[in-house]
Amino acid sequence: MPSPPVIAIVVPCFNEEAVLPFSIPKLLAILARMAQQSLASPDSYILCCDDGSRDATWKIISDLHLRDRRVKGISLAHNRGHQYALLAGLMTAKDHCDAAISIDADLQDDTDAIIEMVRRFISGKEIVFGVRDDRTSDSWFKRTTAHAFYSLQRKMGIETIYDHADFRLMSQRALELLSEYGESNLFLRGIVPQLGLESDTVSYARKQRAAGESKYPLVRMLSFSIDGITSFSARPMRWVFFTGLILLAIDLLVGIYVGFSILYSDKLEAGWASILLSIWFLGSLILMSIGLIGEYIGKIFIEVKQRPRYAIRDILFD
Ligand code: UDP
Ligand code: MG
Repeated sequence: MPSPPVIAIVVPCFNEEAVLPFSIPKLLAILARMAQQSLASPDSYILCCDDGSRDATWKIISDLHLRDRRVKGISLAHNRGHQYALLAGLMTAKDHCDAAISIDADLQDDTDAIIEMVRRFISGKEIVFGVRDDRTSDSWFKRTTAHAFYSLQRKMGIETIYDHADFRLMSQRALELLSEYGESNLFLRGIVPQLGLESDTVSYARKQRAAGESKYPLVRMLSFSIDGITSFSARPMRWVFFTGLILLAIDLLVGIYVGFSILYSDKLEAGWASILLSIWFLGSLILMSIGLIGEYIGKIFIEVKQRPRYAIRDILFD
């Protein structure tokens, strides 16, 4: 029998001092359990990626590292956001593990699913997606907006896994392929299904955040969603074009109607409201289109610079 795989659990952390002291021991216990059952090598480890936290997060990680070398850490020089912290962690783990599992620091995702993911990996899957089959712990609003977002993505031709956040296992091969995606506008959930490797899903129930606050309030969630679409699909631009075309057709029909009324009836169209409304309507459409074009140009601007996507300030990896 081949020796059990080295598993790296990658945990992005931004201002997580409230949850880390609970989460890390829990993850260590999972590693120990898997080592006991010969599912994972005793050299498996947890890699915490401090995303430029302003609280005691890095201190907690360093202390845990001193006590137990299975806790490793990298610290980003700036707060770059969940996706980049995750990428930094995955790329650091890439050459030092057989498979990496990403999970949020608050452990809202079921840690027992980790064991199931590793089982699937051992049986030959390269990628295992964690899928939430029970989201009752999320607010109604978060659930509805999330589902609207998934269907919008599908309509735009973006391959997505419903109710999958960034809780997943990736084999070393998958990580190697991921490292070839050099884009700066990073939306991992869109990239990973594109890698074309054999994958599987594991369902679990999502829990409440144990402590601390969500780092994804509405506005951040919204801009994350916009990234998720504009980094992958140019269809919104076409939609805007078609909307313009339809509006033009309506405009023409109304124009014909007005022309006929002037010719064949003595009623004058007193269209104060309609004129004002249409000016505002068109104005807002124009603004939206410009904004959308700007969105893409902004993305091009970021991509052509080809800057490094994150800067590592400190690393605890021994
Ligand atoms: N996170 C991060 N950088 C950020 C914001 C969040 O690394 O700028 C991490 C955070 O520490 C957590 C994960 O991303 O581990 C998900 O964040 P959170 O739980 O706040 O989001 P939610 O579950 O509410 O969507
Ligand atoms: Mg969370």
